[in-house]
Amino acid sequence: MKLIDTHCHLHREEFEGDREEVIRRARAAGVVFLLDPATDFASNRAVVELASKHPEVYAAVGVHPHDAAELTPEAVEEILSLANHPKVVAIGEIGLDYYRNLSPPEVQKEALRKLLQLAHETGKPVILHCRGAQRRSEEAYEDLFSILKELLKPPIAGLLHCFGGTLEEANRALELGLYLSFAGNLTFPKADALKAVAKAVPFDKVLLETDAPFLSPQAYRGKRNEPAHLTELLGTWTKIHGLTAEDVARVTTVNAHHLFGIGEAADPQIVYPIGRSLYVNLTNACTDRCLFCALSTEEFWKGEGASPFVKGHNLRIRRDPTVEEILEAAGDLSRWEEVVFCGYGEPVIRLEVLLEAGRRLKAKGARWIRVNTNGHANLIHHRVVAPELKGVVDEVSVSLNTPTAQQYLEVCRPVFGLPTYEAIKAFIRECRDAGLKVTATVVAMPGIDVEACRRVAEEELKVGYRVRTYNDLG
Ligand code: SF4
Ligand SMILES: [Zn+2]
Ligand SMILES: [Zn+2]
Repeated sequence: MKLIDTHCHLHREEFEGDREEVIRRARAAGVVFLLDPATDFASNRAVVELASKHPEVYAAVGVHPHDAAELTPEAVEEILSLANHPKVVAIGEIGLDYYRNLSPPEVQKEALRKLLQLAHETGKPVILHCRGAQRRSEEAYEDLFSILKELLKPPIAGLLHCFGGTLEEANRALELGLYLSFAGNLTFPKADALKAVAKAVPFDKVLLETDAPFLSPQAYRGKRNEPAHLTELLGTWTKIHGLTAEDVARVTTVNAHHLFGIGEAADPQIVYPIGRSLYVNLTNACTDRCLFCALSTEEFWKGEGASPFVKGHNLRIRRDPTVEEILEAAGDLSRWEEVVFCGYGEPVIRLEVLLEAGRRLKAKGARWIRVNTNGHANLIHHRVVAPELKGVVDEVSVSLNTPTAQQYLEVCRPVFGLPTYEAIKAFIRECRDAGLKVTATVVAMPGIDVEACRRVAEEELKVGYRVRTYNDLG
């Protein structure tokens, strides 16, 4: 398991006596990379020096809003020159702090503008700090968002660190393209409101941080915090998202790679675990081009950015895998409650391979086999496919997505045109009649009448129904 602490102030005096030991403990705990953002102006040299000495340490340069008054034109020049160092991956931490108001708000805002300009010039992402005192919390976020919009064009490459705001503020940050990180305060017993916000944030926008030496998680509360304590956050996140600790580590590490370029890009996966399910990625070909799908983006086909990723797995396969490759990649099946043919692409296009792999996975001990499909099987193969699935496939999850044929055409853009929707409904009925468990699913996109979809699924087709969250695949 590999973790990245995206915010820890290793340079601070609290670590003066045992810094090497702290880094060693972090590595032993699985924290493979650490990102140390500068705080006051003088710390900029210190973070760059630390990052130069330690392969696992990266740096961010900037001036904390507490010390905004230190940002003279000479200081800006020096930060700009340090930002070119290869281990400097961000401009931070910068922002607004109306809680302690150690610098006057006007000075803070001016410094933030200068540092955002500097980030723009260097092309580096930003690490933002935002904190207000009770009634002034809203004011701090309001000012931060309006300054960001004034100077940078969304999607903004950046992280709003140690998030402590409301759901509305989280959504506004997400709309700007920002990632959010949550520190040890998420583990506090009274953090229910913050946990509710954390649950609502798409997990592909979440990063982990300790904010060491501050904000120790519950188990170490009152003591100095350190990067090794990042593991304390895993339990909270597994509960929030119903994922395993490996899932949490993988997703957040991949997210940190996307934002800061730290670590290696993940290789494409033929099979990929999420929770207690093992997914099989048969193909990237599809007979739809859904508006909400990564397949509809150029980045996906170039294999760039976050586009080909689902729950930290790179699904942009270079070629379709053979049955033998699937079996080998699947390995021991005893851990998994189900095997799911899914991925970015339509698995039923490769019906022969799906059935052969399915039969052999069952023979090797797979307990339950599900296929996530767009339901175009009959149109693709020019025959009624449902009876062929029987005996191999236990469950199909069919993307219905809209309540009408016309809207399906507009949202899913199928190659088979207007008749596709009726063909999907026929496939659903035939699977149901063949004795398979059937669930019709809908992605809750703006403009989709999910209640009308439910009626089609439950009342007309008499199958199960599930709404999937927009922008949260896997
Ligand atoms: S059917 Fe699935 S894989 Fe195909 S375009 Fe739509 S969402 Fe993407
Ligand atoms: Zn901060
Ligand atoms: Zn900090």
